[in-house]
Amino acid sequence: MTAAKALLSVQALNVRYGPALALQNVSLELNRGDVVAVLGSNGAGKSTLARTISGLVPAAGGTVAFEGKDITRRAAHRVRRDGIVYLPEGRGIFPALTVTENIRMAADLLPRGQRRHAMDEAMEVFPNLAIRRGVKSGLLSGGEQQMLSLSRGLITGPKLIIADEMSLGLAPKLVDMVFDALGRLKAAGVTMIIIEQFVHRALKFADQCVVLSRGQVAWQGAPEGADQEILARYLGEGADVTGD
Ligand code: ATP
Repeated sequence: MTAAKALLSVQALNVRYGPALALQNVSLELNRGDVVAVLGSNGAGKSTLARTISGLVPAAGGTVAFEGKDITRRAAHRVRRDGIVYLPEGRGIFPALTVTENIRMAADLLPRGQRRHAMDEAMEVFPNLAIRRGVKSGLLSGGEQQMLSLSRGLITGPKLIIADEMSLGLAPKLVDMVFDALGRLKAAGVTMIIIEQFVHRALKFADQCVVLSRGQVAWQGAPEGADQEILARYLGEGADVTGD
Protein backbone atom coordinates (compact mmCIF):
# COMPACT_ATOMS: atom_id res chain seq x y z
CA MET A 1 0.00 0.00 0.00
CA THR A 2 1.45 3.41 -0.89
CA ALA A 3 0.89 6.56 1.11
CA ALA A 4 -0.55 8.31 -1.94
CA LYS A 5 -3.32 5.70 -2.25
CA ALA A 6 -4.19 5.46 1.44
CA LEU A 7 -7.27 7.27 2.73
CA LEU A 8 -5.50 7.80 6.05
CA SER A 9 -1.77 7.65 6.58
CA VAL A 10 -0.29 8.08 10.05
CA GLN A 11 3.51 8.20 10.01
CA ALA A 12 5.89 8.10 12.98
CA LEU A 13 3.43 9.86 15.27
CA ASN A 14 4.63 11.09 18.66
CA VAL A 15 2.29 12.62 21.25
CA ARG A 16 3.23 14.08 24.61
CA TYR A 17 1.20 14.98 27.66
CA GLY A 18 3.71 17.26 29.39
CA PRO A 19 6.88 15.24 29.83
CA ALA A 20 5.13 11.88 29.27
CA LEU A 21 5.31 10.33 25.81
CA ALA A 22 1.84 8.85 25.19
CA LEU A 23 2.52 7.76 21.60
CA GLN A 24 5.89 6.96 20.13
CA ASN A 25 6.63 6.37 16.45
CA VAL A 26 3.12 5.09 15.66
CA SER A 27 2.37 4.44 11.99
CA LEU A 28 -0.69 3.01 10.29
CA GLU A 29 -2.43 3.20 6.94
CA LEU A 30 -6.01 2.65 5.87
CA ASN A 31 -7.52 2.35 2.43
CA ARG A 32 -11.12 3.21 1.63
CA GLY A 33 -13.48 0.56 2.99
CA ASP A 34 -10.91 -0.85 5.44
CA VAL A 35 -11.83 -1.68 9.00
CA VAL A 36 -8.92 -1.46 11.43
CA ALA A 37 -9.12 -2.65 15.03
CA VAL A 38 -6.88 -0.80 17.50
CA LEU A 39 -6.32 -2.93 20.58
CA GLY A 40 -4.26 -2.50 23.72
CA SER A 41 -4.55 -2.57 27.48
CA ASN A 42 -5.65 0.40 29.59
CA GLY A 43 -3.42 3.41 29.04
CA ALA A 44 -1.77 1.93 25.92
CA GLY A 45 -2.58 5.07 23.93
CA LYS A 46 -5.64 4.01 21.89
CA SER A 47 -7.79 7.05 22.66
CA THR A 48 -4.77 9.33 22.26
CA LEU A 49 -4.27 7.96 18.74
CA ALA A 50 -7.94 8.54 17.92
CA ARG A 51 -7.90 12.04 19.41
CA THR A 52 -4.71 13.03 17.61
CA ILE A 53 -6.02 11.88 14.21
CA SER A 54 -9.19 13.89 14.97
CA GLY A 55 -7.27 17.08 15.76
CA LEU A 56 -8.22 17.10 19.45
CA VAL A 57 -4.68 16.45 20.73
CA PRO A 58 -1.61 17.99 19.06
CA ALA A 59 1.14 15.80 17.64
CA ALA A 60 4.64 16.38 18.97
CA GLY A 61 6.14 14.71 15.90
CA GLY A 62 5.21 12.72 12.81
CA THR A 63 2.36 13.29 10.37
CA VAL A 64 -1.29 12.49 9.75
CA ALA A 65 -2.41 12.65 6.11
CA PHE A 66 -6.00 12.25 4.94
CA GLU A 67 -6.82 11.85 1.25
CA GLY A 68 -3.20 12.74 0.53
CA LYS A 69 -3.31 16.06 2.43
CA ASP A 70 -1.36 16.78 5.60
CA ILE A 71 -3.88 17.37 8.40
CA THR A 72 -1.43 17.00 11.31
CA ARG A 73 -2.00 20.51 12.60
CA ARG A 74 -5.58 20.96 11.45
CA ALA A 75 -8.16 22.02 14.06
CA ALA A 76 -10.74 19.43 15.14
CA HIS A 77 -13.72 21.21 13.53
CA ARG A 78 -11.90 21.27 10.18
CA VAL A 79 -10.93 17.61 10.45
CA ARG A 80 -14.62 16.89 11.10
CA ARG A 81 -15.52 18.85 7.99
CA ASP A 82 -12.91 16.92 6.00
CA GLY A 83 -14.95 13.80 6.77
CA ILE A 84 -13.39 12.21 9.87
CA VAL A 85 -15.92 11.54 12.61
CA TYR A 86 -14.70 10.62 16.08
CA LEU A 87 -17.23 8.89 18.32
CA PRO A 88 -15.73 9.31 21.77
CA GLU A 89 -15.99 6.96 24.68
CA GLY A 90 -19.04 8.16 26.57
CA ARG A 91 -21.10 8.60 23.39
CA GLY A 92 -21.18 12.40 23.08
CA ILE A 93 -24.97 12.68 22.99
CA PHE A 94 -27.19 15.18 24.83
CA PRO A 95 -29.18 13.17 27.43
CA ALA A 96 -31.77 15.88 28.13
CA LEU A 97 -32.71 16.11 24.45
CA THR A 98 -34.92 13.66 22.56
CA VAL A 99 -33.61 11.30 19.89
CA THR A 100 -34.96 13.55 17.15
CA GLU A 101 -33.43 16.67 18.73
CA ASN A 102 -30.03 14.97 19.02
CA ILE A 103 -30.15 13.93 15.38
CA ARG A 104 -31.36 17.36 14.30
CA MET A 105 -28.40 19.01 16.03
CA ALA A 106 -26.01 16.78 14.13
CA ALA A 107 -27.90 17.45 10.88
CA ASP A 108 -27.42 21.20 11.41
CA LEU A 109 -23.88 20.74 10.10
CA LEU A 110 -25.40 20.05 6.67
CA PRO A 111 -26.69 22.62 4.17
CA ARG A 112 -30.32 23.47 4.99
CA GLY A 113 -31.78 21.70 1.95
CA GLN A 114 -30.20 18.36 2.85
CA ARG A 115 -31.16 18.16 6.53
CA ARG A 116 -34.66 16.66 6.29
CA HIS A 117 -33.57 13.87 3.97
CA ALA A 118 -30.48 13.10 6.10
CA MET A 119 -32.63 12.87 9.24
CA ASP A 120 -35.07 10.48 7.57
CA GLU A 121 -32.15 8.34 6.42
CA ALA A 122 -30.61 8.30 9.90
CA MET A 123 -33.88 6.95 11.30
CA GLU A 124 -34.07 4.33 8.55
CA VAL A 125 -30.60 2.95 9.33
CA PHE A 126 -31.59 2.27 12.95
CA PRO A 127 -35.32 1.46 13.12
CA ASN A 128 -35.07 1.18 16.94
CA LEU A 129 -34.30 4.87 17.06
CA ALA A 130 -37.28 5.76 14.90
CA ILE A 131 -39.55 4.00 17.38
CA ARG A 132 -37.96 5.96 20.23
CA ARG A 133 -37.74 9.30 18.42
CA GLY A 134 -39.64 11.30 21.05
CA VAL A 135 -37.80 9.82 24.05
CA LYS A 136 -35.16 11.81 25.94
CA SER A 137 -31.90 10.13 24.98
CA GLY A 138 -30.76 9.84 28.59
CA LEU A 139 -33.60 7.33 29.06
CA LEU A 140 -32.49 5.05 26.21
CA SER A 141 -30.65 1.79 26.88
CA GLY A 142 -26.85 1.89 26.53
CA GLY A 143 -27.10 0.11 23.18
CA GLU A 144 -29.69 2.54 21.87
CA GLN A 145 -27.52 5.45 23.01
CA GLN A 146 -24.67 4.00 20.95
CA MET A 147 -27.01 3.71 17.93
CA LEU A 148 -27.85 7.36 18.43
CA SER A 149 -24.18 8.29 18.68
CA LEU A 150 -23.47 6.35 15.47
CA SER A 151 -26.43 7.82 13.71
CA ARG A 152 -25.32 11.37 14.67
CA GLY A 153 -21.86 10.56 13.37
CA LEU A 154 -23.15 9.14 10.10
CA ILE A 155 -25.53 11.93 9.22
CA THR A 156 -22.92 14.05 7.47
CA GLY A 157 -21.74 11.10 5.34
CA PRO A 158 -18.25 10.74 6.87
CA LYS A 159 -15.35 9.22 4.96
CA LEU A 160 -13.86 7.71 8.13
CA ILE A 161 -15.44 6.80 11.46
CA ILE A 162 -13.32 6.33 14.55
CA ALA A 163 -15.37 4.51 17.19
CA ASP A 164 -13.83 4.53 20.65
CA GLU A 165 -14.94 1.60 22.85
CA MET A 166 -18.53 1.58 21.67
CA SER A 167 -19.29 -1.60 23.59
CA LEU A 168 -17.81 -0.37 26.89
CA GLY A 169 -20.08 -1.16 29.81
CA LEU A 170 -22.82 -2.71 27.69
CA ALA A 171 -24.60 -5.99 28.42
CA PRO A 172 -23.76 -8.78 25.92
CA LYS A 173 -27.06 -8.40 24.02
CA LEU A 174 -26.40 -4.71 23.52
CA VAL A 175 -22.83 -5.43 22.43
CA ASP A 176 -24.39 -7.68 19.76
CA MET A 177 -26.59 -4.78 18.73
CA VAL A 178 -23.59 -2.44 18.41
CA PHE A 179 -21.63 -4.97 16.34
CA ASP A 180 -24.68 -5.60 14.13
CA ALA A 181 -24.85 -1.88 13.47
CA LEU A 182 -21.11 -1.65 12.77
CA GLY A 183 -21.48 -4.70 10.48
CA ARG A 184 -24.11 -2.92 8.43
CA LEU A 185 -21.81 0.09 8.07
CA LYS A 186 -18.94 -2.16 7.03
CA ALA A 187 -21.16 -3.85 4.44
CA ALA A 188 -22.05 -0.39 3.14
CA GLY A 189 -18.32 0.28 2.62
CA VAL A 190 -17.76 2.76 5.49
CA THR A 191 -14.08 3.02 6.48
CA MET A 192 -13.63 2.53 10.21
CA ILE A 193 -11.14 2.46 13.03
CA ILE A 194 -12.62 0.60 15.96
CA ILE A 195 -11.09 0.71 19.40
CA GLU A 196 -12.36 -2.28 21.32
CA GLN A 197 -12.10 -4.16 24.55
CA PHE A 198 -13.89 -7.22 23.10
CA VAL A 199 -10.81 -8.42 21.32
CA HIS A 200 -12.21 -11.49 19.58
CA ARG A 201 -15.22 -9.69 18.23
CA ALA A 202 -13.02 -6.87 16.99
CA LEU A 203 -10.66 -9.33 15.31
CA LYS A 204 -13.51 -11.17 13.61
CA PHE A 205 -14.78 -7.89 12.35
CA ALA A 206 -11.60 -6.10 11.23
CA ASP A 207 -9.43 -6.43 8.11
CA GLN A 208 -6.34 -5.20 9.92
CA CYS A 209 -5.27 -5.10 13.53
CA VAL A 210 -2.92 -2.76 15.41
CA VAL A 211 -1.89 -3.63 18.95
CA LEU A 212 -0.57 -0.74 21.02
CA SER A 213 1.53 -1.24 24.11
CA ARG A 214 2.91 1.65 26.16
CA GLY A 215 2.32 4.06 23.31
CA GLN A 216 4.07 2.00 20.64
CA VAL A 217 2.87 -0.38 17.95
CA ALA A 218 3.67 -3.77 19.46
CA TRP A 219 2.08 -5.81 16.69
CA GLN A 220 0.35 -5.09 13.41
CA GLY A 221 -1.15 -7.41 10.81
CA ALA A 222 -4.10 -9.40 9.58
CA PRO A 223 -6.42 -10.51 12.42
CA GLU A 224 -5.77 -14.20 11.64
CA GLY A 225 -2.17 -13.65 12.67
CA ALA A 226 -3.02 -12.24 16.10
CA ASP A 227 -2.72 -15.47 18.06
CA GLN A 228 -3.37 -16.09 21.74
CA GLU A 229 0.24 -15.49 22.67
CA ILE A 230 0.32 -12.02 21.12
CA LEU A 231 -3.03 -11.11 22.63
CA ALA A 232 -2.10 -12.35 26.09
CA ARG A 233 1.30 -10.64 25.97
CA TYR A 234 0.07 -7.21 24.96
CA LEU A 235 -3.48 -7.01 26.18
CA GLY A 236 -2.73 -8.27 29.63
CA GLU A 237 -5.03 -9.45 32.32
CA GLY A 238 -8.63 -8.42 32.17
CA ALA A 239 -8.76 -8.33 28.37
CA ASP A 240 -11.46 -10.44 26.80
CA VAL A 241 -9.16 -12.74 24.85
CA THR A 242 -11.09 -15.93 25.39
CA GLY A 243 -14.13 -15.20 23.28
CA ASP A 244 -17.25 -13.13 23.35
P1 ATP B 1 -8.10 3.29 28.05
O1 ATP B 1 -8.42 1.94 27.53
O2 ATP B 1 -7.91 3.30 29.54
O3 ATP B 1 -8.99 4.38 27.55
P2 ATP B 1 -6.09 4.11 26.15
O4 ATP B 1 -5.33 3.01 25.49
O5 ATP B 1 -7.16 4.75 25.37
O6 ATP B 1 -6.62 3.61 27.54
P3 ATP B 1 -5.05 6.75 26.52
O7 ATP B 1 -6.30 7.24 27.15
O8 ATP B 1 -4.73 7.17 25.14
O9 ATP B 1 -5.00 5.17 26.58
O10 ATP B 1 -3.83 7.12 27.48
C1 ATP B 1 -2.46 6.90 27.15
C2 ATP B 1 -1.58 7.44 28.27
O11 ATP B 1 -1.67 8.86 28.32
C3 ATP B 1 -1.97 6.95 29.65
O12 ATP B 1 -0.81 6.79 30.40
C4 ATP B 1 -2.81 8.08 30.21
O13 ATP B 1 -2.73 8.12 31.60
C5 ATP B 1 -2.15 9.29 29.59
N1 ATP B 1 -3.11 10.39 29.33
C6 ATP B 1 -4.25 10.31 28.62
N2 ATP B 1 -4.88 11.51 28.55
C7 ATP B 1 -4.09 12.37 29.25
C8 ATP B 1 -4.16 13.77 29.54
N3 ATP B 1 -5.18 14.51 29.09
N4 ATP B 1 -3.18 14.31 30.29
C9 ATP B 1 -2.14 13.56 30.73
N5 ATP B 1 -2.00 12.24 30.48
C10 ATP B 1 -2.95 11.65 29.75
